[in-house]
Amino acid sequence: MPNLPPDFIFSQANLQDFLTCPRRFYLRYVRRLAWPSTSGGEAFEAEWRLTLAQDFHHLVHQKALGIPDPLLEPLVQRRSAELYAWWNELGRFWQSEQHGALRGKHYAEITLTAPLGKVRLMAKYDLLVAHPDGRWSIFDWKTTQHKPSAMALRSQVQSRLYPYLLVRAAAGLTGKAIKPEQVTMIYWFANHPTSPEQIDYSQAQYEADEDFLQRLTEEILGRQADDFELTQGPRACTYCPYRTYCERPLVAAETVEMDEEGELLRLSLPEDWEQIGEIEY
Ligand code: SF4
Repeated sequence: MPNLPPDFIFSQANLQDFLTCPRRFYLRYVRRLAWPSTSGGEAFEAEWRLTLAQDFHHLVHQKALGIPDPLLEPLVQRRSAELYAWWNELGRFWQSEQHGALRGKHYAEITLTAPLGKVRLMAKYDLLVAHPDGRWSIFDWKTTQHKPSAMALRSQVQSRLYPYLLVRAAAGLTGKAIKPEQVTMIYWFANHPTSPEQIDYSQAQYEADEDFLQRLTEEILGRQADDFELTQGPRACTYCPYRTYCERPLVAAETVEMDEEGELLRLSLPEDWEQIGEIEY
């Protein structure tokens, strides 16, 4: 069994890390090495984009809590043109879904956990909406430049863990159990605002996800330190800050073709809001 902290909780970020590269999981969660910073323009660009993404998530959180737009807007305008463009697109989406996918009680930036076998699972949701008719929508805001296909998004751990945990833990939130068929997950892309991706959940998918998550966590717990191999697909290394630990060659990210796989590999990087602190406004 790897030497994980006794209170270790499995999340979409660490599970996706393991699937992307077992060694990355080992370095980050077993050895607990901080994300080393790289140098040069690539690092600056990555940090800037991460900060913008953080700012955007924080803004949406404020909006979901009911802070009026006129109070937030001047801050957004001062920050950056790109953030302002995202903010405007979000405003249009918010307005158009007032009586649709956003109608109901909002739970913003909420964390749910539940045990599964010997482990505990956790998900931090950007926004949960409990609709008046008993349905639930899970919103996840993405600020990536490219939009992965629906099939690729469905294959991500997040698309399996988030609906599964909501079904498991909803009773603790509202006192009422919900069925998988009542849950929909919606990815909204700030750079593709008119084509959100919607994934409807089902009992069969719920059972498949439970099996998947149980097997995956058991596999991780069953490994020894030497068993966390380096990824075979070296493209993941292009975007990975641990390159120096693995002696993988430095390939400038801008020289790598940005296709769907590339975008998913970027999605697997630390857009894990569980580990990102609040940004003050
Ligand atoms: S550099 Fe490559 S092999 Fe090393 S942890 Fe990152 S993804 Fe894995």
